[in-house]
Amino acid sequence: MPNFSLPDSVFEEACAIYPTPFHLYDETGIRQNARALNAAFAWCPDFKEYFAVKALPTPAILRILREEGCGVDCSSDTELMLADACGFSGEEIMFSANAMPYEEFAHARRLGAYINLDDITHIDILKQHGGIPETVCLRYNPGGSFTIGTEIMGNPGEAKYGFTYAQLQEGLKQLKALGVKRFGLHAFLSSNNTDAGYYPALAQLLFKCGRDLSEESGLPLAFINLSGGVGIPYRPDQAATDIQAVGEGVRQAYEAVFPEGGVAIKTELGRWMTGPMGWLVTHATHKKDTYKHYIGLDACAANLMRPAMYGAYHHITVCGKREAPLDHRYDVTGSLCENNDKFAVDRDLPEIVTGDIVVIHDTGAHGFAMGYNYNGRLRSAEVLRTLDGGLRLIRRAETAKDYFATLDVDECASKLE
Ligand SMILES: *Cc1c(COP(=O)(O)O)cnc(C)c1O
Repeated sequence: MPNFSLPDSVFEEACAIYPTPFHLYDETGIRQNARALNAAFAWCPDFKEYFAVKALPTPAILRILREEGCGVDCSSDTELMLADACGFSGEEIMFSANAMPYEEFAHARRLGAYINLDDITHIDILKQHGGIPETVCLRYNPGGSFTIGTEIMGNPGEAKYGFTYAQLQEGLKQLKALGVKRFGLHAFLSSNNTDAGYYPALAQLLFKCGRDLSEESGLPLAFINLSGGVGIPYRPDQAATDIQAVGEGVRQAYEAVFPEGGVAIKTELGRWMTGPMGWLVTHATHKKDTYKHYIGLDACAANLMRPAMYGAYHHITVCGKREAPLDHRYDVTGSLCENNDKFAVDRDLPEIVTGDIVVIHDTGAHGFAMGYNYNGRLRSAEVLRTLDGGLRLIRRAETAKDYFATLDVDECASKLE
């Protein structure tokens, strides 16, 4: 079920200080998650989590995770700049390549980051933009569908990422000739998966594949990168992923394939690390009754896109009404001129009146980060609830000036300040 660890008084207190909407994050919970993950993989001496920056690209959060021993996974110039500014360097940074500008490979190399190649053509690009390092990671796409038992967990065959197996074989040959000394292997085959069997199944596939590729190529396998994808319970009837069981399942797979050890494990979790530790705090500002009953909030899909984009469920509570009967059925909407701007459709909630504080749960990953400016809507502030229970502004809300900043090439710009 969603994270109910914070009492309503925290949201009320925050609303007395900061105008809504804003995302509120809980430092205690983020640190607890980082520690639980590290504990679950403590059996692996070289384990390291590389937090997926795209999930929550805010310096205050990245610094907390760095203190907990995490690195970062970056996929763009600005994410690399953010990592650098927050003190991450060298092998604390994973650069996950994709169809990105060539110059970004060189940027990642300048920072000394691990480069995770997405395609065989990236070998040539990296050679010309930054140069080939001694250790390189390759992303595998096994194609088809990824199943555990009879259950389909993902469809890699439809995914744009990764090398085929034959390309991995050929790629390692080329990389060895270019001076590579060892390699890592990565795959991301299922997203938001709460099944404790996902990582172990992925690990088994990657361990065997990495071992075979190492034997064939003569290059040592330095690490396996299990990437992201471990899920969180967005719905009240869902159970949380048992991270200790995940670590234990990976350990069993590891010992079966690498009885001598010697291969490090890396993860790039985003959602699991911070997702449940964030809340979008809003006020109900409109109430409308037509063919359905609507509650309009002062937030919109520009502040949290997942419901509009994926039809994703985010739990909603109303401050002071957690125990009230769920005897009203509402569509909870934002202000965009776009009918999919709904945080919930036909949701059973307590009676809501304008002025109520409405809290949308599990917005700590892929929430603020996916924000956009459609309809001229501005991105919200971000607030951190610190270890001592205090509140700290860690990102101010956008202003109209921010929105118009890129118009400095237009004669109308001076009138928009
Ligand atoms: C998005 C992404 C992640 C994080 O995914 P989560 O679902 O948030 O765990 C990790 N690695 C890569 C390469 C990604 O693109």
